[in-house]
Amino acid sequence: MLFRRLYWAAYIASHLRGQRRWAFLPPDVIRRAQLRRLRRILAHAFCHVPHYQEAMRRRGLTPADFRTVDDLARLPLIERDQVQSDPERFYSRAIPDSQCLTLTTSGSCGIPIRIRLDLPAVFQSAAHTGRERANVTPLLGREFGYREAMIVPNVAQTTLVLDFCHKHAWFPPGRRVQRRTYRIDAPLDHTVAALNDFKPDLLFSYGSYIGLLLAHVRAAGAPFHAPRALTYSADTLPLPVRRLLLEELCIPVFAWYRAVEAFNMGQECDHHRGIHLNDDLHPLRLVDAEGRPAPKGEAGDVVVSNLVNRATVLLNYRLGDRAALLPEPCSCGRSLPLLSFPPGRGDDFAVLPSGDLAHYTTIHDELLHGEPVWAAQAVQVSPSHFDVVAVPRECCDPSAMAARLAQRLSHRLRANLTVSVTLADSLPRTPGGKCPVFLSKVHRPIQSAR
Ligand SMILES: [Zn+2]
Repeated sequence: MLFRRLYWAAYIASHLRGQRRWAFLPPDVIRRAQLRRLRRILAHAFCHVPHYQEAMRRRGLTPADFRTVDDLARLPLIERDQVQSDPERFYSRAIPDSQCLTLTTSGSCGIPIRIRLDLPAVFQSAAHTGRERANVTPLLGREFGYREAMIVPNVAQTTLVLDFCHKHAWFPPGRRVQRRTYRIDAPLDHTVAALNDFKPDLLFSYGSYIGLLLAHVRAAGAPFHAPRALTYSADTLPLPVRRLLLEELCIPVFAWYRAVEAFNMGQECDHHRGIHLNDDLHPLRLVDAEGRPAPKGEAGDVVVSNLVNRATVLLNYRLGDRAALLPEPCSCGRSLPLLSFPPGRGDDFAVLPSGDLAHYTTIHDELLHGEPVWAAQAVQVSPSHFDVVAVPRECCDPSAMAARLAQRLSHRLRANLTVSVTLADSLPRTPGGKCPVFLSKVHRPIQSAR
């Protein structure tokens, strides 16, 4: 057992090498690494995963027909509900459950999805976090031994991952992080007190939660231990909070683009222009609602291929996010491509009375940029009516805000819309703990978005 743990410790160490500088490597070196991973995962999927065996045979394809990651578009597009309803179709028959870590997505887009990860995927992902932390560790002053607080909706799952890693691999005491996890649904006063007690160097949570926490601290005038850096994933950090952190409080904040379906998709760099994509691990492309490639430079649905995990193989999978690829290289000098910032959960559209669709960011922009709010959530309850819950930055009249929003949204979306506003201290959360900025209860036909 100790031998196995030492083996995986050495495995992590070997994969960790070079990760901090990976983003600066020449593009052709990154492309070669991408191709090696592509060949390996296709060969595995073709031999062991029912979905790809059937799909490739039906199309007369073999792994040799895939010359670049662009050819992954020749595979059928996988939708979330396919994986929700029949996860075993994407499982590798070569890898038994006993050698897997099984995780569930938090289900912000509907029913949770069960994803299996094989041991190499778990430990490679652990090593690939070196790319995310490359921006952060210089701010912490040391590579190991710092204090990290994680505020997450599913403490049990986070604990499960950490326990799994420690069960299978040995971590030298000098190369550990002092980590504490906190529940995202705990009373904010309790969490602030616990953080002040622990004094984390690094704080990780959901973007929406960081917004909520900062708003609470400012409103209550409570003392707050400022970490040296903040990181977030899963949903969007409200723009006013991002500005407050970077410009006023001078606390660096970084988005880590992660999903249970594809860990380590990308990380924000210190120029804060967007998210650098780890496209040698999880290449992604953007498509429209019908699955056609999105026009260059325009936003589209994120379709990702996980080239790392062999236990649940997801190639050409519509993740549920919406984003755009930025055409200009980043001024930081990194070679990895840049995704627009921040990616929002993307199956949330408003269905207007005309039947046209409006992306939720249009509505959310009006809320955040036009009103004195820290955070807001809009729920479309009928084609012409939105219920808004807003966390105000200052004292304000909800009915006046509702009238202003109705006027601006009607003008922008060219429809006759009504809005009601409720002020609150925090936004409602899904059972999984996510804080979607927009929800629609209106049936969505397939049409183009504004
Ligand atoms: Zn950059």
